[in-house]
Amino acid sequence: MQTNGLQMNRSTDGTEFKGSADSNRLKKNNLRLVKDEAQAFQSDQSPDSALLSAKPEQRLQNRVEELERQVEVLQQQLEVERRLAQIDPLTAIPNRRAFAARLKSEVARSERTGSPLSLAVWDIDHFKKINDNYGHPFGDDVIRCVAQVIQSHLRESDFTARYGGEEFVALLPDCDAEGARVLAEKICQVIRQSGCCLNALDFNLTASCGIATLYGADRDETLFKRADDALYRAKLSGRNRVVAEHD
Ligand code: GH3
Ligand code: MG
Ligand code: MG
Repeated sequence: MQTNGLQMNRSTDGTEFKGSADSNRLKKNNLRLVKDEAQAFQSDQSPDSALLSAKPEQRLQNRVEELERQVEVLQQQLEVERRLAQIDPLTAIPNRRAFAARLKSEVARSERTGSPLSLAVWDIDHFKKINDNYGHPFGDDVIRCVAQVIQSHLRESDFTARYGGEEFVALLPDCDAEGARVLAEKICQVIRQSGCCLNALDFNLTASCGIATLYGADRDETLFKRADDALYRAKLSGRNRVVAEHD
């Protein structure tokens, strides 16, 4: 039947629709589904007889459900990969990429709510010498140990990450400059005492720390830069200490 140059077609559920383009697309889709279905059955070495005797609609339905299950598995795998991409493999704490995202969102949250936000950056002192004197695997143990010390002193709402090599960062929401200093001092003190928890050998483990607190016109980069500058001054002034941005 022709209507205004368009062919009237009947789809599988009996409803009519117009248009040769629609009709061709539907035919192609149906053909592809039938081919997929045929291939799926051919590749099956021991076909289930109950399945084979099922009606084509039922088989198609089974195939669709199977594909939906595959999509779900792939989505779960993707989620696992996404999480792994945010974790530092040596210490199992978040990595620099995860920190960058969290820094942005915490700065935005702090600006929205008006609550304070502080940032602390630690760097292990003379770490190259530790590697040189005791070997790289021992250096790795030291990095893991410091990560654990920092993480175990933070609150649930805080966020720590391995920023790189022997550098760590901690984002401290709802924590002002004085609170950040007290916490950073405490962590430096525990790091000093943890030489023995590494079964070590006669060496001093110390770290330096820089801290900064968000203010009005701050952005994520400027907050980080001020904490990093403070860390630099902590190194220059003798290491093994905490320096705040205004010290
Ligand atoms: P400073 O007190 O000025 O911070 O001196 P430093 O020796 O700690 O700093 P430097 O940047 O000279 O050396 C850092 C060393 O950290 C060099 C690099 O080989 C080492 N390092 C980086 N990543 C790792 C790692 O994953 N494992 C180990 N064992 N060493 C690492
Ligand atoms: Mg460093
Ligand atoms: Mg260092």
